[in-house]
Amino acid sequence: MITTETINRIVGFTGNGLPVVSLYIRVPTDLSSRRAMVHSQVDSRLHEIRPTAEDHALGHDAMMSIRGDIDRIGEAVEEQRWSPGAVALFSCSGRGFFEQVQLPRGVRDRVIVDDTPWVRSMLAVLDEYHRCCVAVVHRNSARTWELYLDEMREAGTLRLSGDPGRNDHKADELIKRHFRQVVTMLEELSRTDGLELLAIGGPRPELPRFLDFLPSDLRGLVAGTFTVDEATFTVGDVKQQASAIVGRYERSEEERLVAETVETAAAAGLAAVGLPPCLWAGSVAAVGHLMVQDGAIIPGVICDHDRWLALAGQTCPLCERPVRRVPDIIDELIEVVIDEGGSIKHVSADTVLKEHLVAASLRFPLPPQPEG
Ligand SMILES: [Zn+2]
Repeated sequence: MITTETINRIVGFTGNGLPVVSLYIRVPTDLSSRRAMVHSQVDSRLHEIRPTAEDHALGHDAMMSIRGDIDRIGEAVEEQRWSPGAVALFSCSGRGFFEQVQLPRGVRDRVIVDDTPWVRSMLAVLDEYHRCCVAVVHRNSARTWELYLDEMREAGTLRLSGDPGRNDHKADELIKRHFRQVVTMLEELSRTDGLELLAIGGPRPELPRFLDFLPSDLRGLVAGTFTVDEATFTVGDVKQQASAIVGRYERSEEERLVAETVETAAAAGLAAVGLPPCLWAGSVAAVGHLMVQDGAIIPGVICDHDRWLALAGQTCPLCERPVRRVPDIIDELIEVVIDEGGSIKHVSADTVLKEHLVAASLRFPLPPQPEG
């Protein structure tokens, strides 16, 4: 599982004078060709930085570190058991730093050598997914898990201490204390693990009672609740129920974001809807948040000089150089937005984006488009 700790470690790392190699590789779905494809993609990306490993101008330590990075990445590729999507590798062998992060969605293959890890693609992909804390709370015990990117791992358990005996009043006090301890555990998890959502399950009689104990900040995170049968529930059931809750939350968030953006654009605010204005917004680095209809592919043209993007054309109106045809201009737009520090959301909910394909919130009003 990708933990907040790992991400923070990567984002906060600097080579302190030594270069850091960041490598992103798409991992194809097709199992039969996956290994060979990944191998050849990594080879060609590493080929790009081999001259750096021989560049004496960088100094001996930097050269040796990059050589070590190339070797270390080569080893990782030999050991690869990556799932479809993409993998991000970060290496600074001179400082003993190596991290690999499996990403659930494909990103553009690229290699970057810089003083710090190049994390934008990784963060843009991960930003689309929510960390959810799942809790199953009984009157005398509680278990919590962290659910992220379809993986669930146990986060903690609590047992009611003390025996309530036959005294009803005492039993009630113990349950209240237990519920308060569960709340404390959830508060700690939300603080340390950067949890964004809560899914809470329990037996039908206790669930509403426990929910009453949640302070307002945690209550605001509750994406849904589910009932579990005390005697027969399995972790598999819990994961299925919690995943469904997160899925519903994400769909409704998508619906809300699309609706807000379309409304803002209709009111001539800082938003753009549809490919022509969004491509222009991407060309001038105006996109803050880009929403993309999941699976949409549209051919287009790009100027490699200043990254002017459009659906069609022969020459770039900004620099008058010939443009390059690309099979998917939306993919190019996504990369441009990531490069400019914007964020991406793929939308699979049923919204008007099915018709418009893309919509964006803007950082500033768009300048008039040049005559093409
Ligand atoms: Zn141009």
